[in-house]
Amino acid sequence: MNVVFLGPPGSGKGTQATRLTASLGIAHVSTGEMLRGAVAAGTPMGREVDAILKRGELVSDTVISSLVEERVQADDCRTGFLLDGFPRTVPQAELLDAALTRLGLALAAVVLLEVPEDELLQRLTSRGEGRADDTPEVIRHRLDVYRDVTAPLAALYAERGAILRRVDGVGSMDDVATRVASAVGSPS
Ligand code: AMP
Repeated sequence: MNVVFLGPPGSGKGTQATRLTASLGIAHVSTGEMLRGAVAAGTPMGREVDAILKRGELVSDTVISSLVEERVQADDCRTGFLLDGFPRTVPQAELLDAALTRLGLALAAVVLLEVPEDELLQRLTSRGEGRADDTPEVIRHRLDVYRDVTAPLAALYAERGAILRRVDGVGSMDDVATRVASAVGSPS
């Protein structure tokens, strides 16, 4: 089963993605984690994207899309994968469609985690993970970027009918996990 997780920064996407992938036995593909890993390892790509991440901007659609296309061909993705943080723009969604077609794969569901903006701000400013992009100014910018270029993806996937599953992301982690599982038709 291949799934996309959509949701603003602070919506709990990463946490819920970790839980769902563990229960479904599919790979968790987080583009943010991949990029932060490249920065930490000091790879050429890491050096290229470091400043972009610190500003809360998006890295280029083609760079991130080829990274994902390569990643989903790894062995651990054979049982399926969850894309956490990708696609994030309309062009990325188009590039993903093209890649899935090339690979003979399809999406079973696109989960949209919905959390009101005032709660997102509160969660992000208090989460203290020590991320370089968790300063108040950058947090605001990441929320703006989400609203302007990522949120429109919900309408795009909604046009495809039942594939889009809106999930209320407010509440305890366990409650949200139960909603997410039922949204993708998984027990637990
Ligand atoms: P995340 O962990 O998903 O919040 O991502 C952290 C940062 O990584 C974002 O603010 C972007 O700078 C970058 N990033 C992650 N995924 C993407 C993507 N699909 N397209 C462009 N930039 C991304």
